[in-house]
Amino acid sequence: MVVTRTGSAGPRRGDDTTDRRRRIPRTDALLREARLAEAADRLGPATVKAAVRQAQEQARQGFIAPEDVADTAVALLPRTTGGLRSVINATGVVLHTNLGRASLSTAARRAVQEAAGPTDVELDLRTGVRARRGRTALAALRDRVPSAAAAHVVNNGAAALVLVATALAAGKDIVISRGEMVEIGDGFRLPDLLVSTGARLREVGTTNRTTVADYAAAIGPETGFVLKVHPSNFRITGFTRAADAGELTGLGVPVVVDIGSGLLGPHPLLPDEPDAETQLRAGASLVTASGDKLLGGPQCGLLLGEEELMRAVSRHPLARALRVDKLTLAALEATLTGPETPTAAALAAEPAVLLARAERLAAALGADGIDVRAVECAATVGGGGAPGVTLPSAALALPERYAAALRTGPVPVVGRLEAGRCLLDLRAVPPEDDERLAEAVRSVPDPAAGR
Ligand SMILES: *Cc1c(COP(=O)(O)O)cnc(C)c1O
Repeated sequence: MVVTRTGSAGPRRGDDTTDRRRRIPRTDALLREARLAEAADRLGPATVKAAVRQAQEQARQGFIAPEDVADTAVALLPRTTGGLRSVINATGVVLHTNLGRASLSTAARRAVQEAAGPTDVELDLRTGVRARRGRTALAALRDRVPSAAAAHVVNNGAAALVLVATALAAGKDIVISRGEMVEIGDGFRLPDLLVSTGARLREVGTTNRTTVADYAAAIGPETGFVLKVHPSNFRITGFTRAADAGELTGLGVPVVVDIGSGLLGPHPLLPDEPDAETQLRAGASLVTASGDKLLGGPQCGLLLGEEELMRAVSRHPLARALRVDKLTLAALEATLTGPETPTAAALAAEPAVLLARAERLAAALGADGIDVRAVECAATVGGGGAPGVTLPSAALALPERYAAALRTGPVPVVGRLEAGRCLLDLRAVPPEDDERLAEAVRSVPDPAAGR
């Protein structure tokens, strides 16, 4: 690693500061340096200039020596052109929305790469005739959810709801419990989304209690369907009551269940989280879900259920506007047929194993003179589901100033602040990233060596 923790960096007096600042190489000189000039061709001049400025600032602050500015700028360059940088999720939130939710399995990443060129996404190679788009991914989905006669995939969970509402309830009523009018995040509210399709919401029951009789009283010739929404980011406890899909099947209208999380079958560690198979078996007509939450796949919206309703939904003109890319289909199929996803592995990780990893890392970093210790802590599933569930976990506890330095380092690491420490929670960090994580911590300049 280029950025040194000890070494010649900082001055101890004002005169030294002025002198050191004078020795920081100028931007135009740095941009002429071979490695940075080559990078400007590859990544674009703006990206290289940003890395140069960041390195100069580190030198100005005394974190690095002026003669290390060029090396540091090279180290700060992203590996690819895009603005989306690969980060290590040490937040302890397994499905972190701001970090793109589920991390794809190696199998899914390979499938995406393979599908990036021309593929047979809509062609039967045996007959040479057009075939159903994404048919193998849809078959894999039905294999995993035996009670689903049909499946369809759109861009995300919200799109799945929009499509169902448009196809089955435009100009009609969607009957929904007052306790299930959910805001999913960033100010987006499902009721607004549903109304935007031209459907009317018919709210029934109260915030804490809604009975089958409440639904039954609201159903009539104007009803498009009954909608059950899983409160995936909050919990109402105490004097509560909700009707489940099974109780609503006798009402003579379709029952659509938005399970949110994308669990296809029951999860032993998350007994309160609804799953597609159980809902369909209980009598739901259609289930909608996200692909990048607990399923651990790419961003997409899953629709599973009855054949006739699915035909109406998947052949609606709007379906064409919400259809998914071949890369998504490739990743989804590989997720469904492949080995355990990083999401599943993170959920299942044993606390004792996480603590052993934290202790090993803390010992190695401590030997390098870093103020770190291994601590036990509590991780969460995240916006993807299972509100209120905590998962026992382990973390590296570092001084708070590490948080910003790690986020902006060459391998960005996102931790969390807790009780005045920067915690790097290992639950969502795959074990194969432990060394990258340690290296990132080592690369944070030591203020004792500078300023
Ligand atoms: C997450 C969620 C959605 C939205 O799904 P996206 O894939 O984020 O569009 C809708 N409903 C529920 C219950 C959810 O949890």
